Amino acid sequence: MSASGTKKSSNVVWHQATVTRKRREDQNGHRSAILWFTGLSGAGKSTLAHAVEEQLHTSGVRTFVFDGDNVRHGLCSDLGFSDTDRVENIRRIGEMSKLIIETGVVAMTAFISPFRADRDKVRALVNEGDFIEVYCHASVDQCEERDVKGLYAKARAGEIKHFTGISSPYEAPEAPELIVETGSQPVEACVDQVLAYLEEHGVIVTAKQYALHAAKGR
Ligand code: ADP
Repeated sequence: MSASGTKKSSNVVWHQATVTRKRREDQNGHRSAILWFTGLSGAGKSTLAHAVEEQLHTSGVRTFVFDGDNVRHGLCSDLGFSDTDRVENIRRIGEMSKLIIETGVVAMTAFISPFRADRDKVRALVNEGDFIEVYCHASVDQCEERDVKGLYAKARAGEIKHFTGISSPYEAPEAPELIVETGSQPVEACVDQVLAYLEEHGVIVTAKQYALHAAKGR
């Protein structure tokens, strides 16, 4: 696919795998899904995604976190922060996440992903229930006070153009699966909220059930 979403190659046929997503999920003892963390820079997306991953990994759940900055070093290193590049950035991450859930892994993405339409496009790529939008809610003031990477100061000084929340818009989700108050709650409380959602919606099972599954597989 090109940036515009049109396929350039015509003689490409999708190869059907015999080892399906369902078989991988059964082997893992949990479902796969995309946990899409969205919010302002410094809201806590990366911190929360990695803290959730730590808990899941320790319980034997297969996971992977795609981090905004890391992806921009490789897969999306040709993209900047203009509106067009941001759209393409999210399209690529969305397609990548779609492939990852076929592997039976719980994929977590930590990107500002400021535009509602782009997040909704990713949602539309996968089945209902596969896309879990987690709105990391923190105000511009709270993020600016933290200014973990010193970016807000630079943006205020005009050294960074198109900075979300300052000189570029952030469109908050209208109906996210989860809203976590990363601006005011401790990390642990936010982690618990995410894990509870995953249990309630049958993505993961409880630790006790998981131990039973693992014992059966031995
Ligand atoms: P983002 O990935 O959204 O740009 P980061 O995770 O890099 O944000 O930074 C968020 C900062 O906020 C970190 O310094 C983190 O320790 C702090 N923080 C405080 N409370 C929370 C919370 N509940 N969830 C996540 N981060 C939090």
